Formats: sequence, structure tokens, C-alpha cells
Amino acid sequence: MTELVHTIAEVRERCDAARREGKRVGFVPTMGALHDGHLSLMDIAKDSGADYRVVSVFVNPLQFAPDDDLDRYPRTLQADVAGCEKRDVDLVFAPSPEEMYGSGTMTEVRVGTITERWEGEHRKGHFEGVATVVTKLFQIIGPSISVFGRKDYQQWRLIDRMVRDLSMPIEVIGAPIVRERDGLALSSRNRYLSSEERSRALCISRGLRAAKTAFENGEQNGEVLRRIVEAEVRPNMDRVDYVAAASPETLLPIESEANHIVLLVAAHVGKTRLIDNLELSG
Ligand code: AMP
Repeated sequence: MTELVHTIAEVRERCDAARREGKRVGFVPTMGALHDGHLSLMDIAKDSGADYRVVSVFVNPLQFAPDDDLDRYPRTLQADVAGCEKRDVDLVFAPSPEEMYGSGTMTEVRVGTITERWEGEHRKGHFEGVATVVTKLFQIIGPSISVFGRKDYQQWRLIDRMVRDLSMPIEVIGAPIVRERDGLALSSRNRYLSSEERSRALCISRGLRAAKTAFENGEQNGEVLRRIVEAEVRPNMDRVDYVAAASPETLLPIESEANHIVLLVAAHVGKTRLIDNLELSG
């Protein structure tokens, strides 16, 4: 039975009780509008040994810029709780912005180099909002394990780095990207796409797959691989924020040969901004 709570005090009480029973607390942070990608993270938490699983559903205002889609971000709490119920999640924490931030917050968590480019460059303040809310949720829940999707690749890397830098006693797991059969990465924002936009958006996964094939055939030059993706993405999307080849650890660009590369894309179709990526190693 999944329990739904809205206050920090209730979450602390439930997680303390679970720990007293010797359970390992696992945590999956989300903004709700849950889909199979989110649900896969809950399964991974279980497979990784979490026997009390907490999912947060919180559209965090700190990580949205004034011209972002905060107001139109989908909110589907009832369906989200039903999805968690099916995955045997123990607790859903759905706080209000007031519960999380009261009359405001003066404290901000900022992670260095990893956050500076790509999403960090195009969404000013976004990663400070993410690092701050995740730190706060970690403090409230006290998980032993926390699962993040590699769909938000840079986010996963910065959380993993933050946890190591600050010696937080948490195992961070990066979960594989869940895709539709035709390659589109699942995203809460996909529901905004018209069918014409959706079919154009497939250029992203097509470009990433083309680069993967080239890599498997021996192409290890970051710039060449980046251009393979760009050749698919640029003509089909309405605006491209970036197509990048970067180091998985530092997120700095890779322009020459490397045997471990992440290709990252952010682009707009209609009013919707999509991100995707692919990690290559060999
Ligand atoms: P969000 O609700 O968009 O903040 O996402 C919550 C978590 O779900 C993040 O760790 C995301 O990376 C992860 N996630 C979102 N979409 C996917 C997907 N298609 N595959 C795997 N994880 C995902």
C-alpha cells in the first residue's frame, strides 16, 4: 500500500520508523507526470536492495527560469500515486512549494565544472535549483540509495559528483534511458508534441543511433561523431540549443579521439524542448 504525505515531518517520521526496522531507504526524486521511465527507476531501487522506497513528486520552482514552462508543467498527482502503487512504492512525498521553501531560501548548492556547459549554459540557475532541492530532499529522507535517470545525463553526473564531494552516505545509481519502440526517449514533456512534431523529434534518437554505428565501426573522433548527430538534428528541429560530444566524467567537450564519449542533444520542436544523449565506450 503506497502512502501519500505532504509534510516534511511525516516523511521524517516514516523514514525513521523504516530505518528502526532495519530497512534500507531508497529514494527516487521526480517532478511527477510519471511514465515508464520514472517507474523503471523504482524497480532499479528495489533491485539494488532498497526495501523502503520513497518517491518525491515536486515541481521545483528553483530549477525553472522565469521564461521556462513551470506553469504549464503537467501535474497528475492521482495518476502518479496509482503508478507508484503498482510498483509497490512505500511512500510518495508531494510537498507544496511553501512546505519546501517557506518564505524563501538563502542557501544554494552549486556544483562546479560539470554544470557549466550544455544545460547549465542554456538554463541559467537550473542546476543550482536541482542541486539545492536534491540536497534538501536527501536531508529530509535520509536514503541509502538514490536512483537518477541517465536521460538527464548531466544532472545524474552532478548529483553523483556532489554526493562524493560532500561525503553524503548515499549510493547514487544512474539508470538507463527508457525509450519508445521507435527510439523517442520517454519524457513528461512528450505529451505536448503534436503527431507532426513527434515524428520530427525522432531525428534526435536517429542521429544518436547513427553516431553509435559509426563508433562501433571504429570512428572515435568526438567532433566527427558530433557532426553525425547534428546532421540529423539540425534540419528537423525548429531550434537547436546544442549538439555536443563530451567527456562523461567532466562534461568538457571532446574534439579529438576518445574511447569514452557522451553525445548530448537539446533542441526545440514547436514549443517543446527535448533532451537526449548516448554514452559510447569501447
Ligand atoms: P523528472 O520528473 O523529469 O525530473 O525526472 C525524474 C527522474 O526520472 C530523473 O532522474 C530523470 O532522469 C528520470 N527519467 C526521466 N525520463 C526518463 C527516461 N526516459 N528513462 C530513464 N529515466 C528517466
